[in-house]
Amino acid sequence: MSLSFEERATELGRILLCPFCGGNYLHHDRIEVFEREEDAEAGLHLIVGNGKVSIDNELEGNPSRWRHGLNIHFWCEHCEAKPVLSLTQHKGNTWLDCKAQK
Ligand SMILES: [Zn+2]
Repeated sequence: MSLSFEERATELGRILLCPFCGGNYLHHDRIEVFEREEDAEAGLHLIVGNGKVSIDNELEGNPSRWRHGLNIHFWCEHCEAKPVLSLTQHKGNTWLDCKAQK
């Protein structure tokens, strides 16, 4: 049984668009996970990209100033933007954002 375009789009979710140009050809190339206890000055920073995994305790770049965070770095086929999709833990809320960096 084949799926229609609409059914397949629903199964796959929605296409992420470049926040700078609106293009739909985004590629993720690096993922960063930040883990820390609430307000702790040190934590865990995991980076997956370029065929390797690295771990350190640097929290610079954590989208959350107080707790956990996650960044997915993209590049766009249509422009020079380097969008970053982030999940930020703030108190009981989880925030989702996508910003373009050039
Ligand atoms: Zn773009």
